[in-house]
Amino acid sequence: MNNRITQLFGIEYPVIQAGMIWCSGWRLASAVSNAGGLGLIGAGSMYPAVLREHIQKCKAATDKPFGVNLPLLYPDIETHVQTIIEEGVKIVFTSAGNPATWTAKLKEHGITVVHVVANTRFARKCEDAGVDAIVAEGFEAGGHNGREETTTMCLIPMVREATRLPLIAAGGIATGRGMLAAMALGADGVQVGSRFAASEESSAHDNFKKKITDIGEGETLLSLKQLTPVRLVKNEFFQQVAAAEAKGAGKEELLQLLGRARAKKGMFEGDLVEGELEIGQVSGLIHEVKPAADILREIWDEYQQVRKEMCNW
Ligand code: NDP
Ligand code: NDP
Repeated sequence: MNNRITQLFGIEYPVIQAGMIWCSGWRLASAVSNAGGLGLIGAGSMYPAVLREHIQKCKAATDKPFGVNLPLLYPDIETHVQTIIEEGVKIVFTSAGNPATWTAKLKEHGITVVHVVANTRFARKCEDAGVDAIVAEGFEAGGHNGREETTTMCLIPMVREATRLPLIAAGGIATGRGMLAAMALGADGVQVGSRFAASEESSAHDNFKKKITDIGEGETLLSLKQLTPVRLVKNEFFQQVAAAEAKGAGKEELLQLLGRARAKKGMFEGDLVEGELEIGQVSGLIHEVKPAADILREIWDEYQQVRKEMCNW
């Protein structure tokens, strides 16, 4: 396929694997890139030395383009940016912060910058900040989530209207049908997270991968809205937060309950009871752990097949 997104990144299919904490290390990123999509290393859960190791391993594992996802609220952000520049990473997806802060510096070093937003206001900010493309992520998505709860169905056409930048749709997309719908709404490409979290190359714990394939519709909900809204599996930890909120717990109490490294405990160490399990609504459509290349191929084949069928209506 040849469009603004495949051209921008130099890839075959306009499918980006989301940078997901604890799930997307060099193995997943390189597998997706080798299969013709764009793989992203999720830097949010990595200490600087770990990020450097993953970038180096990714460079060794693929000669195709790949990138790094950088949550801007990461504590050692300056060190991460330095590592990215030193290692010659060509593509950076920033998220969870103001695109004005780092875009110019990254672009000075010849890096293509994409920023993730959940509303039209931030999409316009991205344009002003000079980013190369936008990911618009709807409320269906797993993990950190927009406060306004705008769904992908509404968000994509609104962002399309608000900006002329190349647009990547995210949130609730795991299939070729989903991709086709997103493209019809105005996207130039899609970002897929949950489906790749349950891939063979994902660094998530096997318990978490199995959980993703087991859960059905209605089994993830938004949590911790007073802190940072995050979509989680409704496990024991989720229920503890819900019970505390029902009793009127404030920010301090919730922070204490959350403690430290809950996400690592759940997604990387496989504690399905006490851990934080960040995943999207679309898990209800994910039934099997597969190699990343097979997932990409299935999405692309279904996209083309359904598109052809619809042309005959
Ligand atoms: P390797 O596959 O070579 O493994 C390195 C170490 O990480 C091993 O001790 C291994 O433990 C452990 N490890 C790897 N995957 C998991 C997992 N899913 N759950 C628990 N432990 C795991 O490492 P990589 O080359 O893939 O990664 C290099 C470094 O990056 C490691 O330190 C790894 O922990 C870290 N990493 C960090 C991620 C993050 O998001 N912060 C994501 C992926 C890796 P064992 O041999 O006992 O299985
Ligand atoms: P916590 O404060 O609960 O824990 C910090 C975790 O991050 C620990 O597991 C720690 O690993 C690891 N870590 C990696 N680098 C550092 C560092 N420089 N300083 C401290 N800890 C580090 O954070 P969360 O688990 O809630 O979030 C971790 C990060 O991921 C944050 O930056 C957050 O913004 C980001 N995030 C991004 C999301 C996204 O959508 N992109 C979604 C959710 C979180 P260890 O236990 O090995 O010390």
